[in-house]
Amino acid sequence: MALKVAVIGAGPAGYPAALAAARLGAEVTVFEKDLLGGVCLNSGCIPSKSLLDAAHRFDAVRDIARFCEDGAETQAQALLGRLSWSKIQARQLAVTRKLTGGIGVLFKQAKINVVPAAAAFKDAHTLTARTAEGTKEFSFDYIIIAAGSTAFVPPPFDKIRDKIYDNSNIFQISRLPKRLAIIGGGVIGCEFAALMSSLNVEVSVVEMQPRLLPAMEESLSRLLAQKLQKKGVHLLTGKQAADVRLDGDRKIISLSDGTELEADDILVAIGRSCDLTDLHPENAGLAWNRKGLQGVNPQTMQVKDHIYAAGDVTGFSLLAHAATRQGEVAAHNICGQPQTYNNDLIPSAVYTSPELASVGLTRTQAQQRGLDVKVQKAFMLANGRALTQDAAEGFVEIISAKDSGKLLGVCLAAPNASEIISLFTVALEAGFTVQQLRNVVFPHPTVSEAVADALAR
Ligand SMILES: Cc1cc2nc3c(=O)[nH]c(=O)nc-3n(C[C@H](O)[C@H](O)[C@H](O)COP(=O)(O)OP(=O)(O)OC[C@H]3O[C@@H](n4cnc5c(N)ncnc54)[C@H](O)[C@@H]3O)c2cc1C
Repeated sequence: MALKVAVIGAGPAGYPAALAAARLGAEVTVFEKDLLGGVCLNSGCIPSKSLLDAAHRFDAVRDIARFCEDGAETQAQALLGRLSWSKIQARQLAVTRKLTGGIGVLFKQAKINVVPAAAAFKDAHTLTARTAEGTKEFSFDYIIIAAGSTAFVPPPFDKIRDKIYDNSNIFQISRLPKRLAIIGGGVIGCEFAALMSSLNVEVSVVEMQPRLLPAMEESLSRLLAQKLQKKGVHLLTGKQAADVRLDGDRKIISLSDGTELEADDILVAIGRSCDLTDLHPENAGLAWNRKGLQGVNPQTMQVKDHIYAAGDVTGFSLLAHAATRQGEVAAHNICGQPQTYNNDLIPSAVYTSPELASVGLTRTQAQQRGLDVKVQKAFMLANGRALTQDAAEGFVEIISAKDSGKLLGVCLAAPNASEIISLFTVALEAGFTVQQLRNVVFPHPTVSEAVADALAR
């Protein structure tokens, strides 16, 4: 008889897990209390990249006059003045709908049963859900918890929760503010700072750490800070938001250095939080806190016995592609085809201009681990393709073990860095040495030639 598998949540962890389990012969039921596709498709990766693409097009309009006859500046300005936020949002929604609709089709094809309701544990094998036909009970052989995360809004902003935006509901903002204060200079904060400033919004970013992107290599964060400042973004690093008050439509933030920041809207992009209150995992003997579900095996994704977890709920890596891999690993392990997850080889990318990306160890992490490493770096200034695109500010930095030459990690700032990083992910996965990478021939002219350039040093 087919294994009965439940998947709680249809985000980038849950839906690939469900599809993989169905493909491997399981009878799968997915519980989704909101929208198929989760945060990633509905209020995360995809909507933000659609907005960023629109923002890049406005940047291109700003720039186009230099290739035109005199007077084109006025026409470019006129176009910028006619920016339609509702049309930008409409494109974002159309893309999202196409992708979420695709998941529904895939589920149907795979004969996956979808329960459009919140699941809650009754006991370790039984879930309850309030459906249109009343509260129902469901029993399963295996359960995958892929319940994701929610926006984290700490004090002082929680006291005006309905007057501010967080990193999920910002996509629903009905008009562009004149002044936007972004609290948090992490990946989401920086992407929004970049895109909003391209859309003529005056942006300030408050970050309590001394620099933006505190989780990434310092050289990447320094470069991005320069680029954002050039775009007119006001960076307030090393400062904390101590209080916030409303004055009519204005929001006034008191900063830790005694100064005040005034804005028309606030986006709190401080991070994500695990909230499993309604799922009642305690009824299955499971514990959780704000960081995630406790006791998840970082290789197998097993939590206990027949219960597995995947995605943001594990707290291992709050990225969609990590969630997908974890979901697939959980499904394969349940269906008797063992696989393992490796958090060290999850690439990350920031979709600003230039794009930033990294995988494996950074120079700082290698130093902290006391490893004897070789660092090879090439600047985009010498890269023909980057120069043809006026995008030569970046670099590629390759870290390898000094004794064996084994590749350990890479970080890069370059056009299409989010695509180029996959080359290194494959090389790391395959255990390449820098010499093996050196033998690879890159097409000319491409940004990825900078890799060969760095390795030749
Ligand atoms: C603004 C923003 C931009 C982002 N950009 C990127 C990016 O560019 N690249 C990237 O890799 N990551 C990005 N992320 C992160 C990415 O969206 C998440 O890592 C990813 O969505 C996590 O997937 P998940 O399946 O674990 O959780 P989620 O996507 O949160 O999905 C969980 C699903 O479970 C459902 N659910 C929860 N509890 C229950 C229950 N009890 N019963 C039934 N259903 C339940 C929820 O409704 C939800 O649909 C971004 C996030 C944000 C907020």
